Amino acid sequence: MANTLRKRLCPLCGKETTWKGNPHRPFCSKECKLADLYNWLSEEYRIKLKEKGKEA
Ligand SMILES: [Zn+2]
Repeated sequence: MANTLRKRLCPLCGKETTWKGNPHRPFCSKECKLADLYNWLSEEYRIKLKEKGKEA
């Protein structure tokens, strides 16, 4: 499989990106990587708040 040589679509913005030599893969840029991380963290935070609310 030569998937690494193929162009990939950034899962966040859908822009074409390459995996080869891309430190932010599977994202196209640092911005998309950070935005995704932020989304993920805020989702985690929301889940934690929900769980806390359940206990109380
Ligand atoms: Zn992107």
